[in-house]
Amino acid sequence: MPLEAQTEQIADQNYRTSWYTVTPNRLMATLGALGGEINCDVCVIGAGFTGISAAYEFSQKGYSVILLEAKNLLDSVTGKNGSHLLRGYQISPDNMAKKYTPAGARMLCNLTLEGLALIVERIARHDIKCDLKFGHVTAALYREDVSSLTDRIKAWGQLGHTDLQYISAKDIPAYIDSKKYVGGLYDPKGAHFHPLNYALGVLQTAQAAGCKIYDETPVHEITQGATVRVRTQTGAVNAKFVVLSGHIRIPGIPKLSKKIIPAAMPMLATQPLGTKIAGKILPKGTGVTDTCSIMNYFNLSHDGRLLFGSVCPNIDLQKRMTALFPDLKGIAIAHRWDNPMDFTLNRMPHFGRLADNIFYAHGYCGQGVILGNLAGKLMAEAVSGTAERFDVFAGIRHLSIPGGDSFKKRMLAFGMAWHRLQDSLL
Ligand SMILES: Cc1cc2nc3c(=O)[nH]c(=O)nc-3n(C[C@H](O)[C@H](O)[C@H](O)COP(=O)(O)OP(=O)(O)OC[C@H]3O[C@@H](n4cnc5c(N)ncnc54)[C@H](O)[C@@H]3O)c2cc1C
Repeated sequence: MPLEAQTEQIADQNYRTSWYTVTPNRLMATLGALGGEINCDVCVIGAGFTGISAAYEFSQKGYSVILLEAKNLLDSVTGKNGSHLLRGYQISPDNMAKKYTPAGARMLCNLTLEGLALIVERIARHDIKCDLKFGHVTAALYREDVSSLTDRIKAWGQLGHTDLQYISAKDIPAYIDSKKYVGGLYDPKGAHFHPLNYALGVLQTAQAAGCKIYDETPVHEITQGATVRVRTQTGAVNAKFVVLSGHIRIPGIPKLSKKIIPAAMPMLATQPLGTKIAGKILPKGTGVTDTCSIMNYFNLSHDGRLLFGSVCPNIDLQKRMTALFPDLKGIAIAHRWDNPMDFTLNRMPHFGRLADNIFYAHGYCGQGVILGNLAGKLMAEAVSGTAERFDVFAGIRHLSIPGGDSFKKRMLAFGMAWHRLQDSLL
C-alpha cells in the first residue's frame, strides 16, 4: 500500500481501533497485493509475531523470503495484543515436569527465556524504538492464590532461575495502587512494549536483508510437493519451504483448525491519565497480570494511558478496570478493540509439519509474543538443518477438538460461563 494511503488510513481510525495500530512510529512501504508468479526459498504466510520472526530469521540466514499477509500490514495482528512479555506457559513448570519429564519441562521453560532474550537482543541490535519496559507483577486477588505464586517461585528456582521475588501484601502498594490485591510475584525479566513498533522494526530489518513483503494478499490454497505452490487470488509463489505462521485460515487444512479454539478477546486504552494518576496507580510502571479466574492484565503506555484487557469475550472491561482502580471512574476510554486468541486443549503451543517442507506453529494460548518470536527462530533453525529444538515442541501431543466452529463456540461459552461463576471481582 502506498505511504499516502497508509497515512490517510491512520487518520481515519475511529475509537474502535487498537491504540497500538494508530501509533506506529514508522510507516513501511510494502509491495502491496501479489500479482503474477514468483519463486523463492521460503514463503512465510502471515505477518503475526511468528511470521515477522520467521521472515527476519530466514532473511538473516541468506534465504530468499516472501512474506504474504492477508490484511494491510498495519492492521495485521501484532498491534492488537496486551504486549506483555512473560516467561513460561499456561501450565506451571512443576506440572509440566509431571507431564513432559523434568528434563523436557526444563528445556521448554528455558526456551521461553531464550525467546524473551531474543526479542530484547533484536531491539538492542537494530535500535528498534518500541518503549520496552522491564518489570512485571503477577498479582494475587485472593489469599489462596498466594501459595500458587510461591510455588511458582520455587519451581523456577529449581530450574536454576532464582530471580523471581515474592511481594507481600504490605509491599503491593509500591507496585499497584489497588486494594483488591493481597500479594504478588515480581519478575524483573518480564516486560511490556509497543508490539506494533517492535514488529515494524523487525520487518524493516528483514526487508533490508531482501525479504519481499506482500500485504492484502490472502493465501487460498497450498499444493504440496518438492516445490510447494502457494496460490493467492491474483498470483502464486513457488517455494522450497513454506511456513504457516500463527492462526492461518486456509480452507482444507483440518489438521490445524481442529487443534485450536479461537476466541475474540477485548482490550481498551484510556485517555492519557496525566502523570499524577498514572504514577499513583502503577508507581513503578510495571506490567501486571492477575490471578483472577477471568485474568486481567494492564500496563501504562508511554503517554500515560492505561491499557487494560481481560481474558473473556464480551466482558465489561471498564467496569472491571474501575473495580480495581476506583480513581479511574469517569476517565474517558479512547480506544476499544478485540482480536482472536487461540487456545489448545492442553494449553501448550501446537508446532509441527504438514509435509517435510511445510512447517506450522500456532495455538499460543495468550502467550504468543514470546512463543511466536521463538517459533520463527526454531523454524529457521529446523529448515537449515538443526531441528532438535523445533521437534521438542512438535513432539507435544495435542488432542483434536471434535465438531466444527459451532461446537467450539458452545465449548468456549461453557468454559467462560464456568470462569464467570468463579469470578468474584465484580
Ligand atoms: C487482546 C489480546 C491480548 C493479548 N495479550 C498478549 C500478551 O500480553 N502477551 C502475549 O504473549 N500474548 C498476548 N496475546 C496473544 C498474542 O497476541 C498472540 O498469541 C499472537 O499475536 C499470535 O501471533 P501469531 O504469530 O500466531 O499470529 P496470528 O495472530 O495468528 O496472526 C496470523 C496472521 O496471519 C494472517 N493470515 C491468516 N490467514 C491468512 C491467509 N490465508 N493468508 C495470508 N495471511 C493470513 C492474519 O491476517 C494474521 O496477520 C494477546 C492476544 C489478544 C487477542
